[in-house]
Amino acid sequence: MTVRVRFAPSPTGMFHVGGARSALQNWIFAKQQGGVFVLRIEDTDAARNRPEWTEGILSALDWIGIARGSYEGPYFQSSYAGEHRAAAQRLYEGGRAYYCDCTREDVQARTGPQQRGYDGFCRDRGLEPGEGRALRFRTPDEGETVVVDLVRGEPTFENKLIEDFVIARGDGSPVFLLANVVDDMSMGITHVIRAEEHLPNTPKQQLLWDALGVKPPIWAHVPVVVNEKRQKLSKRRDKVALEAYRDEGYLADAMRNYLMLLGWAPSGDREIVPWSVIEEEFRLDEVNPSPAFFDEKKLRAFNGDYIRALPVADFVEACRPWLTGTETIAPPPWQPEEFDPAAFAAVAPLAQTRIAVLSEIVPNVDFLFLADPLIDEAAWAKAMKEGAADLLDAAIVAFEALESWDAESLKATLEAVGAERGLKLGKAQAPVRVAVTGRTVGLPLFESLEVLGRDRTLTRLRAARVRLV
Ligand code: GLU
Repeated sequence: MTVRVRFAPSPTGMFHVGGARSALQNWIFAKQQGGVFVLRIEDTDAARNRPEWTEGILSALDWIGIARGSYEGPYFQSSYAGEHRAAAQRLYEGGRAYYCDCTREDVQARTGPQQRGYDGFCRDRGLEPGEGRALRFRTPDEGETVVVDLVRGEPTFENKLIEDFVIARGDGSPVFLLANVVDDMSMGITHVIRAEEHLPNTPKQQLLWDALGVKPPIWAHVPVVVNEKRQKLSKRRDKVALEAYRDEGYLADAMRNYLMLLGWAPSGDREIVPWSVIEEEFRLDEVNPSPAFFDEKKLRAFNGDYIRALPVADFVEACRPWLTGTETIAPPPWQPEEFDPAAFAAVAPLAQTRIAVLSEIVPNVDFLFLADPLIDEAAWAKAMKEGAADLLDAAIVAFEALESWDAESLKATLEAVGAERGLKLGKAQAPVRVAVTGRTVGLPLFESLEVLGRDRTLTRLRAARVRLV
């Protein structure tokens, strides 16, 4: 039997990192089993779906290595509404479902506000289909439903505790629980790998599989992803959109490596491993069922390591979207014609070891491409204290006299200027750095000045000096 898995996102918002994690797990499992990965867009909630979210999912999947054209689909759940209705009808005709005209208020009036779930009032009333009548599944009174779950063992649910749940609404439209099962069935899905949030749906869904006469799939409910307060990552509170990480300059390789560590680890004492190792070693039955902490700080550090490991030429290439701007990444503060690729290539190795996300490249190099540096006023106030004017005067004179404009000579010169004033190099650098780059922190100063060149460096030092008068 060929293994067939599916990833079935609902296009109701940006693509959630937890979803990306499930997609990768499905992808790897399919590959390991020589199986097929199916992408199904669950777009039946017309009010909340938007086509751009679907496009966002496709492009984000592409970004983390699940490339368009290399999987089956995308299928769109909305195209199968006929099948969903037919299944509902079959369940009704086979006596496995019944119509119900109770309102929520009716049920609450009978059961009291404390009791949750439906009380079975219409079970044996024999209502015909009709406007406003929901179709409910008749759950078995006895026995239990055992879910075979690769991550969680065999969670067991007593059938009598499962309410007669709705499978089609009063307007006849089937609900998610049923549509999801019918599609999995018709797409021949053998393993459902999805987030833990769906575990409570699973006994109901398995009962539907049984009632429709098909052997249920094997399940794997992978852990919920939480923030540092152990709250489930939410799009209102946390940064959850994969696209946001991409646009901030996380590398796809770092991201997918990190996502796979949510609840699992490769062998040995390693976390950063090539994708091929993850593809080989990942096992669903090794996934820890407890909530997985999405640690953004750790991800950042991870990304820095990945950036440093890139060959410089690849790093230069990887920075490009932030140097030019794209549809989703804001353009840099300089004009395109101000950008100088040779100057960028000269400082790129210095930047590569210092940034954790690629978007940080911009504030590190903007001084090279702007006619005037963007002055951070707080940095200015901090660096341009008493003595700064005198130091700048001396630096200007000494730099003008330099024969060779290179980092080493610049450093020796400023060191000497500082020493004459009883200043260590760090202190002597501060006003020069702010005058030239606008900031107190950045790339190594003397290499930066070398690349910026004599004329522009001196112009900026003089301009700063004028401002200090
Ligand atoms: N559309 C559902 C969701 O995004 C998928 C549920 C499933 O994987 O079965 O949560």
